[in-house]
Amino acid sequence: MDIKKDLINTIGNTPLIRIKSYSEETGCNILGKAEFLNPGGSVKDRAASYIIKNAEEKGLLKPGGTVVEGTAGNTGIGLAHICNAKGYKCIIVVPETQSQEKIDLLKILGADVRLVPAVPYKNPENYVKVSSRLAKEIDNAVWANQFDNLANREAHYKTTGPEIWNQTDGKIDAWISATGTGGTYAGTALFLKEQNPKIKCIIADPMGSGLYSYVKTGEIKSEGNSITEGIGNSRITANMQGAPIDDAIQINDHTAIQVINQLLSHDGLFMGGSVGINVGAAVALAKKLGPGHTIVTVLCDGGARYQSRIYNKKWLKEKGLLNIEC
Ligand code: PMP
Repeated sequence: MDIKKDLINTIGNTPLIRIKSYSEETGCNILGKAEFLNPGGSVKDRAASYIIKNAEEKGLLKPGGTVVEGTAGNTGIGLAHICNAKGYKCIIVVPETQSQEKIDLLKILGADVRLVPAVPYKNPENYVKVSSRLAKEIDNAVWANQFDNLANREAHYKTTGPEIWNQTDGKIDAWISATGTGGTYAGTALFLKEQNPKIKCIIADPMGSGLYSYVKTGEIKSEGNSITEGIGNSRITANMQGAPIDDAIQINDHTAIQVINQLLSHDGLFMGGSVGINVGAAVALAKKLGPGHTIVTVLCDGGARYQSRIYNKKWLKEKGLLNIEC
């Protein structure tokens, strides 16, 4: 018999997929970790489950308790699923500028969605500040705090890293990934470097993020912006501190859109925007390293979550991203 005992046990152990079109084009093995196959539809299910597990183990979260987080993205979706499966309440604080689709989805999943004004971090009404405050005020509640809670990268150190190592039989030359909280990048990079220090660990960065300049010059500086969601940062989170970084590659939105269209039409992969940055950077790295290398990246989430944006011609035209050869 092979039966998963609950939803939480279906998180992780995702396949590693050879991206045929780009592997043939570059002569490298470009491999994508299929995180879109997690039950909540993204790589963030791993962090959400470890954050909750860690809070339970520390006795911070008891039966019937509440998990609070400030996010409109995949972490909120992952937390909402796991809270349902484990009988916890889930409060998600969201800036009111976020898309109605995301807010509606969180509500359907049973999260108590609290809309707050979209104000900077220093304002006490900022969504991160409100979520941290709510967790303190409510009895038996924990703040997930995904950016600085190290249970996030631990999920990837304990699962994503070992899975990639085993799936490739240790034959991997480079690990390349964009970072939001940095949990995926850092946890996986820390594990892989421990197995073989020769594995190159490289950040894929969208425009508008400060990490590319940080890696190249030591100074966090950002230029431009990006239509991709959930990635890029202008600070070094606790999850990123001490992570091995050999280099960074910056990818613009034109390339990211081209990549997701090729993945869809040539490889059958219907992917979210951050995958365009990840695979775009993996291809750039493959061209730099030359044929024969094995490069692993992440297929963070699927395209259905972005139908009204990156897969909508009108929206792309408004952003100046149409008329692209695909
Ligand atoms: N891609 C998408 C679509 C995401 O939602 C996130 C998480 N914000 C990431 C990539 C980056 O993951 P991490 O937070 O582990 O850096």
